[in-house]
Amino acid sequence: MTLWRILILLPALLAMPAQEKEKPKAKLQGYDLIAFPGEEVILKAKLEKDDFFHRDLEDQKIVFRLDTVELGTAISGEQGIARFAFLPDKEGTYRIQVAVHEKSPYQADEAEILLLAISEQKPILICDIDHTVADISSLKFMITPNDEVEALPGAADALHQIAESYQVIYLTGRDDTFMKKTKEWMRIKEIPRAPIFFWDFLGAPSQSHARYKKEQIAGFKKKWSNIQIGVGDNKGDAKAYLENGLRAYILGEEEDLPDGTVRVSSWKDLLEDLTRQEEEPEEDDKKADEPVPPAVDDKDEEG
Ligand SMILES: [Mg+2]
Repeated sequence: MTLWRILILLPALLAMPAQEKEKPKAKLQGYDLIAFPGEEVILKAKLEKDDFFHRDLEDQKIVFRLDTVELGTAISGEQGIARFAFLPDKEGTYRIQVAVHEKSPYQADEAEILLLAISEQKPILICDIDHTVADISSLKFMITPNDEVEALPGAADALHQIAESYQVIYLTGRDDTFMKKTKEWMRIKEIPRAPIFFWDFLGAPSQSHARYKKEQIAGFKKKWSNIQIGVGDNKGDAKAYLENGLRAYILGEEEDLPDGTVRVSSWKDLLEDLTRQEEEPEEDDKKADEPVPPAVDDKDEEG
């Protein structure tokens, strides 16, 4: 390059922002949660590198927003998790957006934390995802692009109807690595958005999915006494629901289901049975020794 060309280009070179090259990609994910109105919660978001190794990214500033208003920021720590205290002051659904700070050396899509603040008015229905809402196993889901994963026939419609009288909570054996993918899939398939609780392999007190679910539900039950229904697809789900006193619906053909399980062949059948139960809960007396569903009879204000 001749000297005069360097002199001509110099101002432009100096004016260039420092290294305008692409920032490395990171994956940001939010943990959904439920709380009582007026109960302070810790919002959690996890940042990791979006490459093969998924290294947790610590010391990164994460911004928390509610309806585009910034609530504040937190720095990611151990396991790349940033924590931010928040108090939902009234009943309802809070969609909290989390993002990496604009000055972060990483780029990441925004994530959502769905915080549900509920008291005890609506009964709660716990719903599994794999082979229950999504027509796929949790292992296959990990490696299948979202647009190739089908929903079970009628699942979205049934869940929309159910969500009118029940508070839905998803409880899945999927690892929390798949929070972002799962939420995106639900959006694509128009499955009602509700808090999703994932299996945290490191934090989980037990190693089997069935025990994990049973313990999670028992934990919820300490706070909310109105958890009434569980929907799943296998023995483990049925056990976890029944042992917590829920009415257990199992979709599909799983064999050797525990006594008291209500097997249904489709979401349509499930919805019909559920409606019948709401109308005449006393009809449920097929077996004397089956677990008794909790206090279904004192919800007559439901109509
Ligand atoms: Mg399942």
